[in-house]
Amino acid sequence: MKQKHVLIVGGGFGGVKAALDLAAHEEHFKITLLSDTDAFSYHPTLYHTATGGSREVSDIPLKEILGNKNVEIILGHADKLNRENKTIHTEDGQKLSYDILILALGAVTNYFGIKGMQEYSYGIKSIQEAEELKAHLHKQLIEDKKPDLNYIIIGGGPTGVELAGALPGYVKRIMAQHGLPDTKLHIDLVEAAPHLMPRMPKSVSKAFERQLRSLGIKLYLGTPVQAETANTILMNGKYVRSHTVVWTAGIANNPFFEANGFIVAKNHKVQVDKLMQAWPGIFVIGDNADTQYSGMAQTALYDAHFVAENLIRHAAGERPYAYKPKKPIYVTPAGPHWASVVWGPVHLYGWLGWAMRQAADWIGYKDLEPWWRATELLLAGADHEDNCPICAANAAK
Ligand SMILES: Cc1cc2nc3c(=O)[nH]c(=O)nc-3n(C[C@H](O)[C@H](O)[C@H](O)COP(=O)(O)OP(=O)(O)OC[C@H]3O[C@@H](n4cnc5c(N)ncnc54)[C@H](O)[C@@H]3O)c2cc1C
Repeated sequence: MKQKHVLIVGGGFGGVKAALDLAAHEEHFKITLLSDTDAFSYHPTLYHTATGGSREVSDIPLKEILGNKNVEIILGHADKLNRENKTIHTEDGQKLSYDILILALGAVTNYFGIKGMQEYSYGIKSIQEAEELKAHLHKQLIEDKKPDLNYIIIGGGPTGVELAGALPGYVKRIMAQHGLPDTKLHIDLVEAAPHLMPRMPKSVSKAFERQLRSLGIKLYLGTPVQAETANTILMNGKYVRSHTVVWTAGIANNPFFEANGFIVAKNHKVQVDKLMQAWPGIFVIGDNADTQYSGMAQTALYDAHFVAENLIRHAAGERPYAYKPKKPIYVTPAGPHWASVVWGPVHLYGWLGWAMRQAADWIGYKDLEPWWRATELLLAGADHEDNCPICAANAAK
């Protein structure tokens, strides 16, 4: 039987997993992965990389994962889809044809139109953002020798609480390493909803609030942010001085879909059928698809496996099966050796949660890498080597 050309767009959780699953079936599929970056971003550890953890754990070259598989990697930013000719066009003028298209483009940051936010805030949604934040912290603490008056994290969801849990320890450690006096830090976490982790049960929100307060974080709940300037943030009608505002509060679906005429739901995610098709032969997975648990890496991996398995079944002359959403396990760290686990009615906190987070990361890496490499990455995650030229130069003095 003739090989079908599967074009996968997006080299994140969904795209890479789909490529790996299909790559084992060379007799049926020729696979091309189009990605706008040459590395896979392991988002769950970006907060750790931003606060002194190694880059290696969050930014894994696509060639390392897919290099020796039956997958051609092409770099480019998908711009236009031509359904009639079955082609994808990139911003730099490449034209790629396909028999089957899998779209896994992930989400983009949404600043909700808040004045100055995009211009002045830091982020941790990509490795570039995480490294920029780390470089800024180093400049303040090591070159200028002064912590900020206020560190402000906006967004009390998982990304905000992860960063808030790691930041005090990191800033204190850099201050101690570079001989700065041990002053009280002002680290604020700002959330527009009345509770942290607003999508979780109230008891879970309360546990996070207690945990972060115990680390000295000041919580501003029910506090929408109104504007940001180069050195202030406006919230509750008051200006607070800060040069370190980190925006973790909003994401939106990738604009590719509405620009290319996909039918989207109210939340702007793409409507898919029970095979995850948005159009015959065009599958949309992960953060882009309007499914019950969209927005989690676990869901993107699950979707990719589902679509790949059905394509393999179809190629073997078997009937496909229908999509059933799978409830993820929510494992969220907030501070040294503390994490919460929410698994249906089971809620765990503290060191046990932390151990489960390590296991979850190992499984996350293991979905994409051999077990020994997954173990190496997990161990590298425990490392607090800053890879920072300024720190290295100072340490050598
Ligand atoms: C800071 C952070 C922490 C998170 N922590 C967790 C966690 O602990 N547990 C969990 O389950 N989930 C977590 N998530 C959510 C999880 O990362 C996402 O749900 C998951 O990445 C979605 O996978 P995806 O394949 O849909 O998209 P992504 O993994 O985002 O991959 C999309 C890829 O497509 C590329 N791309 C985008 N547009 C184009 C284009 N036009 N052309 C070509 N390539 C393009 C992007 O560069 C990216 O490589 C976190 C997210 C963030 C931001």
